[in-house]
Amino acid sequence: IVKSVGVRKSFGAFEALRGIDLEIDCGEVLCIVGPSGSGKSTFLRCINQLEAIDAGALWVNGELVGYRRSGRKLFELSEREIARQRLATGMVFQRFNLFPHKTALENVIEGPVQVLRTERRQAEAIATELLARVGLAHKRGAYPIELSGGQQQRVAIARALAMKPALMLFDEPTSALDPELVGDVLSVMRDLARTGMTMIVVTHELGFAREVANRVLFMDHGLVVEAGSPEQVLGRPTQARTRDFISAVL
Ligand code: ATP
Ligand code: MG
Repeated sequence: IVKSVGVRKSFGAFEALRGIDLEIDCGEVLCIVGPSGSGKSTFLRCINQLEAIDAGALWVNGELVGYRRSGRKLFELSEREIARQRLATGMVFQRFNLFPHKTALENVIEGPVQVLRTERRQAEAIATELLARVGLAHKRGAYPIELSGGQQQRVAIARALAMKPALMLFDEPTSALDPELVGDVLSVMRDLARTGMTMIVVTHELGFAREVANRVLFMDHGLVVEAGSPEQVLGRPTQARTRDFISAVL
């Protein structure tokens, strides 16, 4: 569902991604770990086109990201077409970015009603179901300020799911949370993985990675240093940089 070939991204003279090769199948849960500044967020942002790549090619959900093929030629997509491609991915960020003046339910139905043109009643029914799924049926009328960080993050997950994405991206979804709230969010993500959702999760929660991921990827300095099963990468890393990182995080 994702294929990345030689993906590069620079910010000025700084190379944040220096050639990422990766394939992710439908239903896989990939956890990306690595030190600060290694390019993890940048890679997620390229997948959902918050950043344009400089070189290489990226396919998401069967489409070449950012381009349309016509005969042998490639044409850059318009903003509108990029927005359509972006619907394939749902993203949850480190900082909960709910609309502050909308209730939990209104936050979840916003996208379906405004973008997918779902009928309001139907959108509400779907949102109610999704809020129940993340354990917040009783908070549908609450405003973000009335919710804990963990609850806000679970609303953010429900909101992303309401758009029926083919792929979910999580960028350190629990790292801004108080420790006692982390478990609820991880458990929602674990349930989501069990439903077969394809997920790419940037996280420092190695326990979660060990338990839920099919595959773990260790990134450093814009490159994939090591990739494999959780047992392999977290349990028996072959690279010194991976070992150093794991012992620093634990
Ligand atoms: P962290 O664990 O701290 O979130 P990360 O692995 O997600 O780190 P990125 O956010 O992808 O790292 O950043 C990789 C590098 O690219 C960093 O050195 C960062 O300063 C740089 N960078 C990222 N976004 C930009 C930007 N918009 N402009 C300039 N530099 C950027
Ligand atoms: Mg980051």
